[in-house]
Amino acid sequence: MNLSFVNQAPDSPWATYLSQVDRVLPYLGSLARWSETLKRPKRALIVDIPIELDNGTVSHFEGYRVQHNLSRGPGKGGVRFHPDVTLEEVMALSAWMTVKCAAVNLPYGGAKGGVRVEPKSLSLKELEKLTRRYTSEIGLIIGPHSDIPAPDVNTNPQIMAWMMDTYSMNVGATATGVVTGKPIELGGSLGRVKATGRGVFVVGRETARRMNVSIDGARVAVQGFGNVGSSAAELFVGSGAKLVAVQDHSGTVHNPNGLDLAGLLAEVAAHGGIGGFKGGDVIGNEDFWDVETDILIPAALESVITRERARRIKTKMVLEGANGPTTPDGDLILGERGIMVVPDVIANAGGVTVSYFEWVQDFSSFFWSEDEINVRLDKIMVDAFKRIWEIGEQHGIPLRTAAFVVACTRVLQAREKRGLYP
Ligand code: NAD
Repeated sequence: MNLSFVNQAPDSPWATYLSQVDRVLPYLGSLARWSETLKRPKRALIVDIPIELDNGTVSHFEGYRVQHNLSRGPGKGGVRFHPDVTLEEVMALSAWMTVKCAAVNLPYGGAKGGVRVEPKSLSLKELEKLTRRYTSEIGLIIGPHSDIPAPDVNTNPQIMAWMMDTYSMNVGATATGVVTGKPIELGGSLGRVKATGRGVFVVGRETARRMNVSIDGARVAVQGFGNVGSSAAELFVGSGAKLVAVQDHSGTVHNPNGLDLAGLLAEVAAHGGIGGFKGGDVIGNEDFWDVETDILIPAALESVITRERARRIKTKMVLEGANGPTTPDGDLILGERGIMVVPDVIANAGGVTVSYFEWVQDFSSFFWSEDEINVRLDKIMVDAFKRIWEIGEQHGIPLRTAAFVVACTRVLQAREKRGLYP
């Protein structure tokens, strides 16, 4: 039955998620009887966040925290500050967290949070007030044993520090494990910042090996040169790949002989974007999708690989660093054209995996070296990918459906074993 409180427009993130679940049902066997569980969030909280602005006026913002599924453990998922945030988007992102955590076999359910705000319009003091009031309002349902937020778009370690402090003040004890992605000084984990990009690289390398594509000499293009895109690019280039095109909010640069990575990073550090970079040809943003590559990494926004772009893309592999970059139509077209799509729920799961390590380290108050973290991360990603690849081969299905089969089976097995309360 449709949910009454959500706009289920056909191309919306929630509708995309529902269509992904529908593709999995034939492979769930008798567990399919529990599948309705996947199609509705367990709990959704809408909060009002009034703050006094620097000019003395009071402004109200709308915030959300959605716990999609808690069958396998506490909720886990980031907090997004963005003017386009809606309940429906947060629901979809929370559901993808359920699938991602289960696909990698982390002992978590899925959750997500967001505030509809343009954070760039706030002063640092206003941003802190917004974060603290939001945390206090969702304090009803978050906690180290119940739901653990983390950074997402426009949130960062400083915001996690304010969230940790606010929660700790409200419960009267320092609770480092209530959020992950914290600064190292407050119980953050080494390796967390680059973990998502590292996971993208490891899963890309594993896929390439099975496709007989060599990373050494491979042509790679990246959309989004922030945390995920730049860290993944660094590892690909370190393994001999050529970075032939990069796009961010400030423009697109192309060089078939390979762009200079250090120069691009310096440009971003100096000017906040790659737009002024001189080591390549500036091309139109839409032309990015026509560049010939072996590996294409969308690592910026949702829904960028549309039906139309999917018909033009010239690559062997789409490696999804961003969440939800491919529309369902785009996905079908890439599949028909024989282009391998490595889905977000496994490709970008490195971040939540190191968040899990951070949470474990906080509970034991014993911290690991960066080498230990990277070795454990690589093993979890390699093992998870192997399982998904095997299921894909066994049923002759795309990797996204295979990842959903692995994940949804784990979630629904937990649901069935726990039984229904009361
Ligand atoms: P970020 O803010 O560090 O970087 C975002 C990048 O996208 C920037 O380079 C920005 O310039 C670029 N961008 C913004 N608008 C653009 C546009 N219109 N066209 C082209 N590029 C544009 O964010 P991030 O942490 O790297 O996250 C990127 C994606 O990866 C998001 O979808 C996020 O949900 C997903 N993700 C992030 C993590 C993580 O640990 N950071 C984990 C899993 C998934």
